[in-house]
Amino acid sequence: MGIGIEALFTNALGLQAPWSVKAVKLDTNRRRIDFDLKCDAQRLPCPNCAVPEQGVHDRLQRQWRHLDFFQYEAWLHAEVPRIACKACGKTTQMQVPWAREGSGFTALFEALALSLCQELPVRQAADLLRCSDKQLWRRIEHYVSAARKLDDMSNVRIIGIDETSLRKGQNYITVVHDLEAKRLLFACEGRRHQSVLDFANEITAHGGTPEQIEHVCQDMSAAYAKGVGMALPEAQISYDRFHVIAMANEAMDKVRRQESSDTPQTVKEAMAGGERKLHKSLAWAMRRNPESWSETQRQAMACLQRSNLKSARAWRLKMALRAVYANAAQSNNEEQAKADLLNWISWARRCRLEPFKKLAATLKERMDGVVRGMLDNRSNAYVESMNGLLQQAKRAARGFRTAANFIAIAYLRMSKLQHLPSNPLQLAMPQGGVLLHRCL
Ligand SMILES: [Zn+2]
Repeated sequence: MGIGIEALFTNALGLQAPWSVKAVKLDTNRRRIDFDLKCDAQRLPCPNCAVPEQGVHDRLQRQWRHLDFFQYEAWLHAEVPRIACKACGKTTQMQVPWAREGSGFTALFEALALSLCQELPVRQAADLLRCSDKQLWRRIEHYVSAARKLDDMSNVRIIGIDETSLRKGQNYITVVHDLEAKRLLFACEGRRHQSVLDFANEITAHGGTPEQIEHVCQDMSAAYAKGVGMALPEAQISYDRFHVIAMANEAMDKVRRQESSDTPQTVKEAMAGGERKLHKSLAWAMRRNPESWSETQRQAMACLQRSNLKSARAWRLKMALRAVYANAAQSNNEEQAKADLLNWISWARRCRLEPFKKLAATLKERMDGVVRGMLDNRSNAYVESMNGLLQQAKRAARGFRTAANFIAIAYLRMSKLQHLPSNPLQLAMPQGGVLLHRCL
């Protein structure tokens, strides 16, 4: 290394007095570059009480992984002074400007890692950075929790409360979204009314009040409704289309399964004399939109509609409910929507299909909230897009999928947090550069 290289790297690393680069060692075989840093000062302010001009007690050797230098893995090494303070009587290690206390990574390296974890599964980001995923999870937890402490919720008015599960049918997590800002506000384990009470505390801790919530879009869960009633006094509930149609699909599936097990022969005969292929594709075809039926599914549905099967009636009921929603979205007329829904309910009550009678009773009981959900279209597309992002967050946590990790990565990706470190590689891009952008 020639003369001046130390000064060059002192500048490149952004070091300021008393810190500078003392030596640079490049090892081309090990693809590694090591920087020895030194602190010139003999007397420093006490890190504990800030009284200036205190003596250095000793120096402790430490090292940090830094951003790669070209193809070389870069490491910083320094003897970090401990200050013995006469004023407060404590011996305290000096805070270095390039890293958080206790971290073996520099702040820039951590910022890059965090940016990668917003786009890639954590394990893949760890592979790229040649570190362990456990190390990355610890950083995600640290930075997300620090950024969330400063998160401002004072403008939130309309929220969506939903549940998701880490594994099919278990480990439920409640998620609360801001439907206007389209971001995740809060997530916690469980799906009881307590989750809503916890959210109400959360909003208070972030500059808001529970009274500011005017509107909640949610599923039919009695627990959430109870929580909203207890903790969000000004909120009106609306039940969104996505969940109601899902319930109609479930009712329809129940009818079909019951019929297939009670009278398999009748079902087989209705399917063009028992053609196995048609029978098998029926379940999927009934759930899908007619526009996306395959040829086999179209044939199966033609057979179904010619039949007297209960499944045929169940399918018509589901389609009719979808039409009620489509009309309401188009007319945006409350009276009309309510009349259409009441018509559907009275049909479903007389249909002699137990699951639909039940659904009709539920919709009748929650009439006001259901009608509100039919008219206000704000949650529908949104619920589906958030589900997509939650699935990605689950994939990102693969291998380390605990509730805490999932919640941390969901916040990192979906909360639009303002106080996270930014991607250091973005600094190198010209203004408006598009190669490295953050998708959230
Ligand atoms: Zn002191």
